Amino acid sequence: MKWIIHVDMDAFFASCEQAINPKLKGKPIGVMADPYGRGKKRSVVAAASYEAKRCGVKAGMPPKQALELCPNLILVPAHPSYYGYVHRGTLKYLKTISQEIEDYSIDEFFIAYYGKSPDRVGKDIEAFVKKEYGITCSVGIAPGKLLAKMATEEGKPDGLVWWKPEDIPGVYRYLPVSAIPGIGSNREKLLNQNGIYTLEDLAYTPTSVVKNLLGILGEYYQKIACGVDETPLVLEEPPLKSITRSVTLDYSTHNPLVVEAVGRLLCASLSKGLEEIDAKAKEIFIFLRYDDMSGEANGVKLELYTNNEETIFRAFRELNASMVPYPQGVRSVGVGMTDIRQHYTPSLFYRERPNPLKPVLEHIRQRYGYDSIIPAHLLFAKHYTPIIAE
Ligand SMILES: [Mg+2]
Repeated sequence: MKWIIHVDMDAFFASCEQAINPKLKGKPIGVMADPYGRGKKRSVVAAASYEAKRCGVKAGMPPKQALELCPNLILVPAHPSYYGYVHRGTLKYLKTISQEIEDYSIDEFFIAYYGKSPDRVGKDIEAFVKKEYGITCSVGIAPGKLLAKMATEEGKPDGLVWWKPEDIPGVYRYLPVSAIPGIGSNREKLLNQNGIYTLEDLAYTPTSVVKNLLGILGEYYQKIACGVDETPLVLEEPPLKSITRSVTLDYSTHNPLVVEAVGRLLCASLSKGLEEIDAKAKEIFIFLRYDDMSGEANGVKLELYTNNEETIFRAFRELNASMVPYPQGVRSVGVGMTDIRQHYTPSLFYRERPNPLKPVLEHIRQRYGYDSIIPAHLLFAKHYTPIIAE
């Protein structure tokens, strides 16, 4: 039989901090990007330890409010690269158990398991995480993905809950409708107003009524409430190795600004290409082909995974500058990115500033073509740049 095992780290960021610094063990802590930051850019509490949660501290709370609720709260700076390290290590271990894995978020995984004792596997996973990283996780096992996540919630923290098909009617008699991920307080209120409190209630309500209350998702939620959970795992796609854009110029050039102007358009197109497949990349390279057809490439590793046009272009410009003077006329220009991650969850702690002009640029480019808008100081180079198809 196919089982879905859901693994969810307990108070992940906070547990990691307590594991790195044992002095914080057993204490209420709040993890923040920059707890000592002063003034306008003070961030919120990104995660709270169980001790802090007990006082009502929640992720997303301003530190002032958190400290009012919990005067002993210790605010500690986040170590995102350590969280990534634990995440990758855990994922690597899970891959030894199953090939069907959904890398769901920084601290959650789903795996499909076809053996007889999924509980054994669950215990092994908990033991691995505890031994390797000194933190705990909770495990839920059920015939479906959403059910497994609900089971995990029942056992938190440091729990293991296994729902077999025959257990589900019993559990459903007492589980509130809000136990289904996706049924938030508004939907719950609506259901309660109509006398639907438990999952069993939901299961026995006529489908037309449920649809009326919950809209098109009604039928899906009701199926879950009947213990029928066919939610598929989103498995890893074969990794994309690289993405490139290149163009041959109408005239060859020795002028770095012309290459820059062309690069501007190529980077815009590359950025859009990454966005379309929901991907970000970390290494950028440019390649130039000269009049005698010889080529030269140059690359750099960026600090963050990105698909931001400005970030990519900034790197392009620096790489281009480092190749000047060109040994011969440049006849074609290319830019590419490698080390690509799809469906990448951005760090909570580092964010790129979005370009406020982006929607307008996008609109103009869609309507008038990719080369219809470029920075004014590069305008002179326009006749060098054949239209880059998009
Ligand atoms: Mg968690």
